[in-house]
Amino acid sequence: MRTTDNDNRVYNFSAGPSMLPVSVLKEVQKDLTNYKGSGQSVMEMSHRSGEFEEILKDAEENLRKLLLIPDNYKVLFLQGGATLQFSMVPINLLRNSKKADYVVTGSWAEKAAKEGEKFGDIKIAASSLDRTYTYIPKLKKSDFRKNADYVHITYNNTIYGTCYKKTPDTGNIPLVADMSSSILSEEIRIKDFGLIYAGAQKNVGPAGVTIVIIREDLIGNAPSDCPVYLDYKIHEKNGSMYNTPPCFSIYVAGEVFKHILNNGGIKAMEKRNRKKAEKLYRVIEGSKLYSCPIDKEDRSMMNVVFVTGDEDLDRKFVKEAKEKGLINLGGHRSIGGMRASIYNGMPDEGVDALIDFMKSFEKKNKKQ
Ligand SMILES: *Cc1c(COP(=O)(O)O)cnc(C)c1O
Repeated sequence: MRTTDNDNRVYNFSAGPSMLPVSVLKEVQKDLTNYKGSGQSVMEMSHRSGEFEEILKDAEENLRKLLLIPDNYKVLFLQGGATLQFSMVPINLLRNSKKADYVVTGSWAEKAAKEGEKFGDIKIAASSLDRTYTYIPKLKKSDFRKNADYVHITYNNTIYGTCYKKTPDTGNIPLVADMSSSILSEEIRIKDFGLIYAGAQKNVGPAGVTIVIIREDLIGNAPSDCPVYLDYKIHEKNGSMYNTPPCFSIYVAGEVFKHILNNGGIKAMEKRNRKKAEKLYRVIEGSKLYSCPIDKEDRSMMNVVFVTGDEDLDRKFVKEAKEKGLINLGGHRSIGGMRASIYNGMPDEGVDALIDFMKSFEKKNKKQ
């Protein structure tokens, strides 16, 4: 089995949970049983302890530095994954007209819109279902209802492998973006958004913590019968400590933030990610066996989807890759084919190993 280093590690191309930088894992390992002389691990320590308060404070500060988050935005560390945000967003943001417009570009966007329908008047402003979500619809301001309380998009479509290259212009309507599979992978302008949310397990850290970046004026609009945990105001007022936060996940995410800051920040990360993705798409383009069904201009840097056109051969690819230590290359169960998720934590060497494997597989399985 091919491994990434002397720890017998595989290259994991899973859509999530996904790889973390080995140096971060080692740092966590070093402090695991005795965090910085506290005599206990972060898993065991009180979330009200000075040590943990510092972990949380540093994590927020470093995330703010990385994404240049303006002061009028709050950062919340919540639980429940992106899925709970599908509910919290409409509950908190349907505050005036009770109307919201969704752009449906894949299964996650569908799920978000469907959840919204429980709480208000939801319109599908645009969809790319007509071509099985292989592109991002072109959007203009007039596609959205003028009095909509917000517009919701899924910034990177993890399953289909598409991504916005330009943030849609919604005028004064707050734009809400699910960035679960792209946060920290490229530079973004926070002030183009009213709210950004992301589950951690793709680009940030272990599952269990969900990041919400929300503009101040969108907080405090939940109805009075809103369950307490679902009200952004409660979390904001209590600095993400209304109840016990996912301490260990926040701690590891914080280590990842430090790691990115120490390695050139988001700009350098984006450059690396772009190179990794371009390399892979170039091999697909230059091949007679593989093809990518996604419109060129909308291809994701994070989730690279490709097929051979023969389902049996796709299955053989995934199986043989796994034997070489390149795991989880199967496409989502809803679309099949292959998908290489190459998030921040995927080293260049992992992409190179995949490319080597793709080339040798193509040689052995020439199209007749
Ligand atoms: C993975 C994913 C989700 C679901 O995230 P959970 O944290 O499991 O709820 C939602 N949206 C996108 C874009 C995703 O990639």
